[in-house]
Amino acid sequence: MSRVTFNRNRVKLKQLLGIRARLALLALILVAPLMLERARSLEDERAKQIGRAANEFSDIARHSADAQQEVISSVEAVLKSAAHIRASAGGIGRSCDILRASLPTHLPWIRTLLIVGGDGRVQCSTNNIFVGVDLSERAYFKKARDSHAMVFSDYLSAKLTNNPVVMAAYPVSAVDGEGDSVILAGVNLDWMSKIMSNLGGRPGISAAVVDSTGTVLAAPADQGSMIGHPLDTIPLLSGIADQALSSKEPEGSLSFTAADGSKRALSFARIAGTESRLIISIDEAKVSAAINREIRTAYLQLAFVCVFVLLGALIAAEKLIIQPIEIIASMAKRFGQGDWSARATRKSLPSEFVPLARAFNAMAAQLRQRERDLVATNDRLTVIASIDMLSGLANRRGFQSRLDFEWMKAEQHASDLSLLMIDVDHFKLFNDTYGHPEGDACLTRLGETLAGIAAEATGFAARYGGEEFCLLLPNTGAARALEVSEMVRAEVQKLAIPHSTSSYQTVTVSVGFSCTKPNEPQRSADLIEAADAALYSAKHRGRNAVVEHGFVRPTDSAVALAS
Ligand code: GH3
Ligand code: MG
Ligand code: MG
Repeated sequence: MSRVTFNRNRVKLKQLLGIRARLALLALILVAPLMLERARSLEDERAKQIGRAANEFSDIARHSADAQQEVISSVEAVLKSAAHIRASAGGIGRSCDILRASLPTHLPWIRTLLIVGGDGRVQCSTNNIFVGVDLSERAYFKKARDSHAMVFSDYLSAKLTNNPVVMAAYPVSAVDGEGDSVILAGVNLDWMSKIMSNLGGRPGISAAVVDSTGTVLAAPADQGSMIGHPLDTIPLLSGIADQALSSKEPEGSLSFTAADGSKRALSFARIAGTESRLIISIDEAKVSAAINREIRTAYLQLAFVCVFVLLGALIAAEKLIIQPIEIIASMAKRFGQGDWSARATRKSLPSEFVPLARAFNAMAAQLRQRERDLVATNDRLTVIASIDMLSGLANRRGFQSRLDFEWMKAEQHASDLSLLMIDVDHFKLFNDTYGHPEGDACLTRLGETLAGIAAEATGFAARYGGEEFCLLLPNTGAARALEVSEMVRAEVQKLAIPHSTSSYQTVTVSVGFSCTKPNEPQRSADLIEAADAALYSAKHRGRNAVVEHGFVRPTDSAVALAS
């Protein structure tokens, strides 16, 4: 990956992981363990609940099987006592009478008692319609006769009545060892179903007593339609017929997926002394429906908590971090634009940002003071830049700006403006004679003299350059300008600064002046030029003279010099 692409990706990542995103991520990291723990405990609870239900129903299956077992035992006891009667009573007629008289009325689960002869024909019955019926082909009959032991049939349809029935068979030979009769009892399937009534009416629970072939013998009232049907034709139980029937164990449990896709747990218990089994199947989804609902609600709550935490994190990020940063950034921006009055109020900021805001405010105050100092220094520098240090007068630059100002003013008011150009005579010789420092001192004195005259004449004096000075006289016409020029010349001479190489023996100046009423197309430079030309004339006139531009006004001294 090129460096440019890498950097670009880094920038993108940084944008993605802004403060808001980071806080949201942090909030999720904090909430996630709680969420996972809650989800785990709910899933645990679900598994436990299913386990508890399976155990509960396995107990119920066992108890129910025990109840069935009691029925079977009582049937067995009745058959055995009937076998004894048959064995001891002698003829079938007498046996039959005793049997009919002794059929216990308190055992409703025994439908009919029969004494069947060795040929399979019913010799005696508590219900006369069966007498004479041939049962020799019935498997249970054969098995009981041959095995000399108690036998229970599978699900049967009674020969004459077509009623569903389970037959119990007990051979008399089991009692006296010789008799070939077999005592039979029809077991009332309704009663077997009644015993299971406690297993009915529960959502997700199927219960059935099945015979060795898997045909349903008994079921709770609400599932009564199963009775008589093979287990593998019953939709929800077909899948388990094989497993439930093939197990040799007296009881057990297993899990399977039913044809409708539901996960089911199965408990089965064998009814002792018979090939029958009691089977209870539980639909895990229905049993765990309540906890599933709870889990769904809990997940929903967690989702809400997450959303609230995220929203809270985003609002907190906005209020506590982003907004203060924006406030301080906009304050810094205003500082940048020179608005030093910008201040961050403490009220609008979280306390953590107050020191930063305070530092910004202090910085603004310092910068404001520094700016004031800079402006003042700048003003001083501007003044210094327009002052001549030697003469104490304005320098050429200062003069120029004052001239522009006065020119404009005079133009506006249509007033007079006069300019005097003043040049020290033979100053080179002065320097040569007295030295440069003395020349400087002389220039300083001349500056002071000119300042005094400027104040008197309400004019503006400046050092134009070298040993050349100028005096600007606003609102001054030619006559007054001539007076002031003469005053300058005379005052300098009055200073009586010795100048041995000058014909006057003192320092003197020549003055050229010019007057005008500024107007277009005249320019201020024209006034300087005119005054300069007059100065040149004054020099020509022999120095220590005053000359007005355009005509010559010889002064007394100049006349004197000329003469
Ligand atoms: P003129 O009468 O024709 O004006 O003769 P001048 O000698 O005054 O004129 P020139 O232009 O020949 O010489 C001017 C002299 O002024 C030369 C220079 O040394 C001197 N000067 C200019 N500025 C200063 C200064 O600041 N200090 C000193 N001491 N001398 C200066
Ligand atoms: Mg000069
Ligand atoms: Mg000169």
